[in-house]
Amino acid sequence: MNTQQSINPATGELFQEYPVHDAQAVENAITRAHACFGTWRRVPVTERAQALAAVAQIILKNKESYARTITLEMGKPFKEAIAEVEKCASAAKYFAENSVAFLADQHVKTEYRKSYVTFQPLGIVLGVMPWNFPFWQALRFILPSLAAGNACLLKHASNVPGCALAIESIFKEAGLPDGVFQSLLIPGSRVESVIADARIRAVTLTGSTPAGKSVAAAAGNHLKKTVLELGGSDPYLILSDADIDHAIKTCGASRLNNCGQSCVSAKRLIVVERHKARFEQGIVDIFGKAAMGDPLDGKTTLGPMSRADLRDELHDQVARSVKADAKLLLGGKNPGGKSAFYPPTILTDVTKSMPAYSEELFGPVAVIIPAKDDEDAIAIANDSEFGLGGAVFTTDLERGETIARERIESGLCFVNMMVRSDPRLPFGGIKNSGYGRELAAFGLHEFVNVKTIIVA
Ligand code: NAP
Repeated sequence: MNTQQSINPATGELFQEYPVHDAQAVENAITRAHACFGTWRRVPVTERAQALAAVAQIILKNKESYARTITLEMGKPFKEAIAEVEKCASAAKYFAENSVAFLADQHVKTEYRKSYVTFQPLGIVLGVMPWNFPFWQALRFILPSLAAGNACLLKHASNVPGCALAIESIFKEAGLPDGVFQSLLIPGSRVESVIADARIRAVTLTGSTPAGKSVAAAAGNHLKKTVLELGGSDPYLILSDADIDHAIKTCGASRLNNCGQSCVSAKRLIVVERHKARFEQGIVDIFGKAAMGDPLDGKTTLGPMSRADLRDELHDQVARSVKADAKLLLGGKNPGGKSAFYPPTILTDVTKSMPAYSEELFGPVAVIIPAKDDEDAIAIANDSEFGLGGAVFTTDLERGETIARERIESGLCFVNMMVRSDPRLPFGGIKNSGYGRELAAFGLHEFVNVKTIIVA
């Protein structure tokens, strides 16, 4: 295809098309980014940090327009889009305030006159990003990378070109040097050729596990540093001593947020037998109240999914699970058509032989897996190829903390709350959910040369 298309998932209508960047346009962008890197890296870190404070202001000034672009291109309710954009502004502020400290030299006491570690930028960092949080996912790699003195190129998901260009405009409007951040409108099939370019020094991908494997293979081939934030199927464990009303409220909200299209959504609800009936009823009540409709309407709490083809794939996973004897408590009927709506759906009595047990379901589908007891719940939680987030519900905080810390195989595990990213804390997974970390000092240090200096 010679264009990238903005299709409103609420209606299925094409409302904007953008020409795909050809090979020459990509070459020009890399050349510009490389030249700009040469000067940007020499800008004092205090000034780079100030530039991010200006970025935060621009984001807040234009938040309604950015949120509208998000909603029109990928369907999340406008309120959720505003919250996403505001979160980007607070991350920009966070890196503006903390990057100087994160990038300060670290002295080490040795027998030498001087010995220390200094952090230097790598060059151009390429980000390959998904559509589900089209501002947040992109900004969370761009902000620390720029603070560290790198230049950035963004290859965004092909269904959100308007967001990709809006993000580019933020950095121009904030007065950062032309070329320090640019969006490439290219399909995934052309990413390897960009990675192959010697001027690209690192690549970060947020997306599905197959896309991660493909980018990691290409990066390995060309010896480029990678960070991978991939799929997840987060377990939420409702243990025998859980505050059941709190667990129901938190799990229901997590699963419906962003129409279930979040990497850290409550995807596997693992409930001990004694709570099962009440938990099922609670989730039915919450899902039953979801107001599905036009995402621009302030009363809507559940928009469409982001693309009709993804809706059909999700329905296929639900249908295969029901065929394998999962019990359908709510929803499960595919409305079909050009728009991408899918009703809130609840599957229970899910067991190991069913797709809903092991596959990632990226949409508004609650998957309830019964556990005999707390130990069984922990075993089920870890019986997954994924290891991104997880949550433990219990009134015994000390035991909850021990289970979260020692027993659950994941990059994040929260006690009595839904998993969410926070600029102040590292975010990322293990197993097939990827490697490396974003956000906080850990994220910033992924794309720097950790350089050792000794003066004898
Ligand atoms: P996706 O199909 O993997 O796409 C993500 C990005 O990768 C897009 O820009 C896509 O480009 C590109 N891409 C796809 N295949 C590629 C390939 N073979 N080589 C190079 N680039 C490739 O994922 P998605 O459906 O957009 O997003 C959903 C997935 O992302 C879920 O699995 C979710 O859990 C995961 N996710 C993870 C996190 C996290 O932080 N761990 C956060 C959000 C989402 P095109 O659009 O041009 O194909």
